[in-house]
Amino acid sequence: MSPQASGSTLPVAVVTGANRGIGRAIAVGYAKAGYAIAATARDTATLGDTVAEIEGADGRGGTVLALPCDVGDEASVESMAKAVAERFGAVHTVVANAGIGGPTAPMHEIELAAWRECMATDLDGVFLTFRAFIPSLIAAGTGSLIAISSMTGKRPLYGRTPYAASKMGVIGLVRTLALELGQHGIRVNAVCPGAVGGPRFDAVIRNQAAARGVTEDEAMAAFTSASPLGRIVEATEIAEACTFLSSAAAASITGEDLNVNAGVAMY
Ligand code: NDP
Repeated sequence: MSPQASGSTLPVAVVTGANRGIGRAIAVGYAKAGYAIAATARDTATLGDTVAEIEGADGRGGTVLALPCDVGDEASVESMAKAVAERFGAVHTVVANAGIGGPTAPMHEIELAAWRECMATDLDGVFLTFRAFIPSLIAAGTGSLIAISSMTGKRPLYGRTPYAASKMGVIGLVRTLALELGQHGIRVNAVCPGAVGGPRFDAVIRNQAAARGVTEDEAMAAFTSASPLGRIVEATEIAEACTFLSSAAAASITGEDLNVNAGVAMY
């Protein structure tokens, strides 16, 4: 299956949460793979850094549209999808990456509002983002939908019930949607990163240390010692997994939840 979508000279990839971290690496990765990019996040000021990186990185000036979008807000997602269609026409790939970590606390101490905020971003956000693009993908008869779940979508992480519930929910969504959309030539997959280095993971280590009463070195060791490779993961490795899943090389892969976790979880 060619990644070329109709209505654009380049295949188009939409990436949510693209202003920093894994989402920025994914947007840059697709640009390097020859896609036009719609990069979205709530904070559009920092999206400018992603735009600059794409324009500098892909060797052809880049084709990138930066758009504000709150993935937990139905009207915001629909408005983003409309702007993408007006600029690019049909898209080929949608990566639902935007997410928050949610609270770190024993579940009986978690406020309903904090639970709902995590669900709204990490699970509703995938639903709303994919839903907004599915009709145009069906019309095109091709496409790749990718949700960024987590290693915590496979196995528990202490004190993170809302996050684990949402990320495990994402895998259920992906498998069911793959079943629905296969007849239209659309593949749906999840990528499950392990711990990815960067500011967000630094905060995870601080929170795990506080919640478990251990040092930050000990909290870090809980991640690295569980890896057969003895390390955490680079954001660019998540981007490589995504571009692979959108490529012709992955034409038979759908309903998959692909681990990129340095071997910490093997299922
Ligand atoms: P960051 O916190 O660095 O970035 C999160 C991104 O999501 C930002 O672009 C943020 O932009 C965006 N975002 C958050 N809330 C919303 C919202 N309501 N609407 C739209 N965008 C939103 O996180 P990472 O890059 O580390 O994580 C990216 C994804 O990878 C997440 O789904 C995360 O759960 C997952 N993941 C991360 C791991 C890690 O170790 N870092 C491990 C496993 C999975 P803004 O706030 O401006 O909207």
